Amino acid sequence: LSVEGSVEAKSTTIEERVVLRNAGSIDPRNIEEYIALNGYQGLAKAFRMEPRVVIEEIKKSGLRGRGGAGFPTGLKWEFTQKVDSPDKYVICNADEGEPGTFKDRLIMEGDPHSVIEGMIIAGYAVGASKGYIYIRGEYFESVASLRRAISQAYEYGLLGASILGTDFSFDLSVRLGAGAYVCGEETALIESIEGKSGRPRLKPPYPPVSGLYNKPTVVNNVETFACVPPIIDKGANWFKAIGTNSSAGTKVYSLCGNLVKRGIVEVPMGTTVADLVYKFGGGIPDGRAVKMVQTGGAAGTFIKPEELGAPLDFDSFKNFGAALGSGVILAIDETHCAVDIAKNLMEFFAHESCGKCSPCREGTHIIVHILNEFSKGRGTRELFDQLYDVADTMEDSSFCGLGQAVPIPLRSILDRFKDEFLAHVDAPQCPIGVCKFDKKK
Ligand code: NAD
Repeated sequence: LSVEGSVEAKSTTIEERVVLRNAGSIDPRNIEEYIALNGYQGLAKAFRMEPRVVIEEIKKSGLRGRGGAGFPTGLKWEFTQKVDSPDKYVICNADEGEPGTFKDRLIMEGDPHSVIEGMIIAGYAVGASKGYIYIRGEYFESVASLRRAISQAYEYGLLGASILGTDFSFDLSVRLGAGAYVCGEETALIESIEGKSGRPRLKPPYPPVSGLYNKPTVVNNVETFACVPPIIDKGANWFKAIGTNSSAGTKVYSLCGNLVKRGIVEVPMGTTVADLVYKFGGGIPDGRAVKMVQTGGAAGTFIKPEELGAPLDFDSFKNFGAALGSGVILAIDETHCAVDIAKNLMEFFAHESCGKCSPCREGTHIIVHILNEFSKGRGTRELFDQLYDVADTMEDSSFCGLGQAVPIPLRSILDRFKDEFLAHVDAPQCPIGVCKFDKKK
């Protein structure tokens, strides 16, 4: 793995909690427990600052979007703030749909006010008076947690008209998704809130300039908003001192797959994959060996054991064309077959493709068809090369991030496990014994 930029690998055995500062230690159903631990202090401080100064502070902190792409949050807010419009919106993207990702759920259920406070600060900074939390409908507990917290915030004068006696007003409500992965793509999400079918729009224009009802709209992830109150409360320099030069702060990871300890951890940016797998995840169970780790979610990169020293931040994976993603560490042990893993993943994308554009609609199904041929012992070298051709076409011409992202995991597993794919062509049986075919029969 070649690492670009000034990325420093951080070795750590203890968590550093910024986002999860309260999760697990307060009763999330009680606003007073949040307030007792400096809750809403960031908002009170923001109100003593000019909106543009709040944005400057967020820019200075180096906060980048935790949904996956790492776009600078302060810059996004500045774009929205600069547009002259009487109507602006703040949206929290809580449609956490990336396979293996469950970090936002813990934030919403463990500390819902941290997200609400971050959204009110964003509204004040950009001049928006209405916010929505768009959440996947399957997250029943998170929906209940947020609704309870929102109604408490109204009761305490933290939402609604003239918040904390200022002339700033902000309303917030929850909107439920209905199970479509593509609705986590911000423009499909916006269409869904507008009551339309959840399909993506062409970007640009980006939502900060033209979003909900074609008005300037800040869309940020749950984890991003939860970072905002302590940044304002403690100052940009405090946050910037955590993490790496280009990726400030901490990152919350969902550890899953073949790990002894699965769950959520929060560590500084720059922590290595190896630390997450072995120190926090407890390694691979039953003495088996790790075969690969997928970082970043379904759209993330597969890496091999010898690459686990890679530090995780927004820039270290640039060479693969993959971002940090939604913060998944999916460990896969030696009992799994690379063809089967790829097939399983690509079936997910084929199922979730919204069908709007043909490169994604057709491409995902062609890939699944070819991988099926390999898993039945009917793969060929030509078909192996065709997978790269389809990936190139999808990357160049898919309408939105869903189709454009498919080539990232596909190429990474093909590149690293080429021999295993070709063994399905040359050998009489699947070398791992997972794909059920026998060419000798
Ligand atoms: P993107 O790079 O197009 O945009 C990222 C953000 O920056 C968006 O909010 C966008 O509006 C903003 N932006 C980008 N360029 C801009 C500009 N010039 N002006 C103003 N704003 C601009 O990425 P994306 O398609 O929104 O998201 C891709 C990421 O989502 C991937 O990293 C993927 O891993 C992640 N993802 C996350 C989940 C999850 O459950 N958290 C699910 C699927 C995908």
